[in-house]
Amino acid sequence: MTDSQITAADAKRPIYAGIDVGGTNIKFGLVDDNGKVIIEDKIPTESENGLPDAIIRMAAQLVKIAADAGVPMDDIAAVGLATPGTMDIAAGMILEPYNLPAWRNFPIRDELSKATGKPVTYANDAGAAGFGEYWVGCGAEFGSTVLITLGTGVGAGIIVGDMSIDGEHSHGAECGHIIIDIGEDARACTCGQNGHLEAYCSATAMVKRATESLAAGQESSMKARVDGGEELTTLMMAEEADKGDKLALQLIEEAATYLGIGLVTIAHTIDPSAIVLGGAVNFGGPDSELGRKFLGWVRAEFKKRSMPILAEKTVIDFARLGGDAGYIGTAGLARISHRKSSGSA
Ligand SMILES: [Zn+2]
Repeated sequence: MTDSQITAADAKRPIYAGIDVGGTNIKFGLVDDNGKVIIEDKIPTESENGLPDAIIRMAAQLVKIAADAGVPMDDIAAVGLATPGTMDIAAGMILEPYNLPAWRNFPIRDELSKATGKPVTYANDAGAAGFGEYWVGCGAEFGSTVLITLGTGVGAGIIVGDMSIDGEHSHGAECGHIIIDIGEDARACTCGQNGHLEAYCSATAMVKRATESLAAGQESSMKARVDGGEELTTLMMAEEADKGDKLALQLIEEAATYLGIGLVTIAHTIDPSAIVLGGAVNFGGPDSELGRKFLGWVRAEFKKRSMPILAEKTVIDFARLGGDAGYIGTAGLARISHRKSSGSA
């Protein structure tokens, strides 16, 4: 048990369940009224079997973890559900998630509510992770938080005063698609437009830039590994950068620079207390020299281009909750809904 975990007996009621759907796994957790984790678990997503099948398995798993933790189902006030988009959050509909191709246009919120017998709050996965960081990751210190997730793509969650900014059409925090380059040769984004942040800072984009550089004959210790049959990844880039490879280091610095440019637009739009960097790509995070260098480059670029008060005051740091942020955050959003509907907020 870690510092942030608590036993069912010590947990502050009511308790909230968080369910965070990813392409490979569905993560579950029971979280108490203070955001402490009582139990966590996961099951394979198996999205190819369709969403009705997954809803039955999610409801069964919720009963199982409650029993495992010794929490009576009646103590669980509400369930939070997070999925990747596209989605219509207000309608509780999952629309066309690119990494769950068999899950299309389905009233996921209400069907899960029927299956569990609990009210369900529906959220975008990045918004939920942002709320997790805001509530128990950074929440003790900051009144508003933007979480940027660097992974296959670039996602974001924007939390201002207990509210996830989802927007009128559930596209409110698409920070991966902030325009950072309008030049003729701006790089192509996965969304079909050019010059977006994601086309410069995602793992996919970084690997593409590295592959192009090697093909153009640039010297790098990555070349021998790729020639030996290894797949080029951001982890390989980080390992070779750590050993002093100039190209790997240069590519990571470039990604950090572009990210810093993107963060300036976010800060000038939202003016949040903090912008925190999460996701799988963190170059070792705060515990590694490369991670600290990466963060330093992001901060330097941000400082150079933002208004003085924002350059001075905006906290830019690594996120704290890692892969737990999603289910904790969606449980937290369920808590907000429950408190509003029960008049305790
Ligand atoms: Zn885009």
